[in-house]
Amino acid sequence: MTAEIIDGRAFADRLRATVAEAVQAFVAAAGRKPGLAVVLVGQDPASEVYVRSKGKATIAAGMESFEHRLPDTAGQDELIALVEQLNADDRVDGILVQLPLPKDIDGKVVIAAIDPAKDVDGFHVANAGKLAVGEEALVPCTPLGCLLMLKERIGDLSGQDAVVIGRSNIVGKPMAQLLLQENCTVTVAHSRTRDLPAVVRRADIVVAAVGRPHMVKGDWLKPGATVIDVGINRVPAEEEGKTRLVGDVDFESAKATAGAITPVPGGVGPMTIAVLLRNTLVAAHARAGFVAPAQL
Ligand code: NDP
Repeated sequence: MTAEIIDGRAFADRLRATVAEAVQAFVAAAGRKPGLAVVLVGQDPASEVYVRSKGKATIAAGMESFEHRLPDTAGQDELIALVEQLNADDRVDGILVQLPLPKDIDGKVVIAAIDPAKDVDGFHVANAGKLAVGEEALVPCTPLGCLLMLKERIGDLSGQDAVVIGRSNIVGKPMAQLLLQENCTVTVAHSRTRDLPAVVRRADIVVAAVGRPHMVKGDWLKPGATVIDVGINRVPAEEEGKTRLVGDVDFESAKATAGAITPVPGGVGPMTIAVLLRNTLVAAHARAGFVAPAQL
């Protein structure tokens, strides 16, 4: 068997088009554009790239983009004062503080300062709690995107055996909650899990969010399983001095057993920004007292 490759770029393009169309309807009804504010502290080169692409994608979707840059000498109080200013700004529907933050800033305190209604990253405990109890919440972009990809491929997920490898607050835990809401039977595996290959072999759906290159092997998979590889790992490339990105799944062996699989790069990564735009539009609807369109 050779697995179907789940094309994250094509998925992201479709979602972006859906969002852009719904933005037009929002602007017509609300008389203003939805707005996303992205805050970058310091000059981490990878973060610079992310922030630039988020800004471009926001404008391309017809939304307002607000970029705020603070020097890496900025302290926690200065950052929180900016977050509070954005909380109070009616043009801003979503606030994203780019991680990682400089060492002397406590990310938890900063996230707690974001208005949960504008927390488009879904990291605030109010949103994590709502997700856990099954209330309407802003959900972290990466796991939500993984769920949308799974639903597009499989349809109804009810009764599927799902194994999520990783239990971080950003990916693993919200992923498990989302799959549970879809009536999957969910196992969350982590670094203390015994006999991980045997656990993974039971799964119809495998989501790997570990941060270990090529960890999940093809012979760990149930034939036909759908595999979502969240991992982004930089490893030495064949060419001297170069690096390349690989996932947590050993793609070459996995594609011989899986029914469908996301590649790295080109799988989960590209759709994260598309989901961020989706979350911003959902937040804009809620703040305006509108019902978000079902296609979101
Ligand atoms: P964390 O480091 O926060 O969590 C990793 C998880 O993997 C932990 O729960 C850890 O277990 C578990 N783990 C570590 N080693 C093993 C092992 N040998 N066997 C089983 N489980 C193990 O990472 P994140 O959740 O933030 O990210 C995971 C990966 O996803 C990374 O590669 C990251 O770069 C990528 N990522 C990709 C995104 C995208 O847009 N594509 C977005 C976010 C992340 P324990 O809790 O016991 O320590």
